[in-house]
Amino acid sequence: MKTAIITGVTGQDGAYLSRLLLGKQYKVIGLVRSLYGANLSRLQYLNIADAIELAECDLTDLSQVIKLIRKYKPDEFYNLAAQSSVALSFEQPIGTIHFNINSVLNVLEAIRLLNMKVKFYQASTSEMYGKVEQLPITEETRFHPLSPYAISKVTAHHITIHYREAYNLFASCGILFNHESYLRGDQFFVKKVIKAALNIKAGKQHVLEVGNLDIKRDFGWSEKYVEAMWLMMQQTLPSDYIIASGKPILLRDIVEHVFKKLSLDTSLIRIKEEFFRPSEIMNIYGMNTKAKEELNWEYDIDFFEVLDRIIEEEQQNIDAV
Ligand code: NAP
Repeated sequence: MKTAIITGVTGQDGAYLSRLLLGKQYKVIGLVRSLYGANLSRLQYLNIADAIELAECDLTDLSQVIKLIRKYKPDEFYNLAAQSSVALSFEQPIGTIHFNINSVLNVLEAIRLLNMKVKFYQASTSEMYGKVEQLPITEETRFHPLSPYAISKVTAHHITIHYREAYNLFASCGILFNHESYLRGDQFFVKKVIKAALNIKAGKQHVLEVGNLDIKRDFGWSEKYVEAMWLMMQQTLPSDYIIASGKPILLRDIVEHVFKKLSLDTSLIRIKEEFFRPSEIMNIYGMNTKAKEELNWEYDIDFFEVLDRIIEEEQQNIDAV
């Protein structure tokens, strides 16, 4: 039986990846900041909270990370923990950069010091490309981060590659473009729009206030994207892969689709300039050819179908309360 450690196990991807690995008969160790305050709601929602062994770890403390890796001797280490909100990173740049860089550095340094054969996965992001000069984005495109979050992830990405090249560690980065699900945090755009629209429908809210809708992003389905993480760890050699749908979608089209699906009047959508970010990526989409060819990762899901699934799941859970 293989053992995997997952950081960020309480998040969207951590929950879906845990379920995937449990289905493949892994022993899953989920790292949390504190056993007492841990938010297990996503793991409970997927009915897997009891199947995972939770362990407490401050990832910014190298000695704790060493102790954990020595104890569990994982075959695979999936590093998903991060302050993952771009918007919050503008409010908390130091905290975001400090955690998102030092956590990665400590895990890689621990694996190096212990000299153990642990395959390491780093959760990199399309936000690293930022100011885009050419589309589609490929693994060769230059980074130009536009937020503290993106800066932290570019650094973590380079640290991962450095440990691979300088110390010969099996360390791979999945460069994931936006991916959504019912389990996505409520503060993120798609979930925020869907929840607000359902509230308007139920008469609990009057309007939806949003920032700039003239922006395009490449959106996908989280459950399929975590499969790519696992596939990367099954390769003989480590590498970096773009995981994307390959299609740009206008945020306005997402909002209008959700409103249309719920038969709501689009005049209830209000653009608020104060929600605009200090700097913004206007259009981005990725090319997933390398992942398809080398990992045999398949992706052909229409994002408007994903939206419909999330709306239905959200509605079912509201009705069940
Ligand atoms: P998420 O739902 O926001 O989950 C983030 C996880 O990180 C949570 O488990 C959270 O734990 C943990 N975390 C945050 N700050 C921490 C800290 N200071 N110490 C320990 N744990 C901390 O994120 P996600 O959507 O699953 O994404 C997973 C990873 O992929 C992240 O690294 C994210 O940056 C990256 N990524 C996501 C996307 C996307 O579209 N979803 C795209 C590209 C890359 P708590 O429960 O304790 O808060």
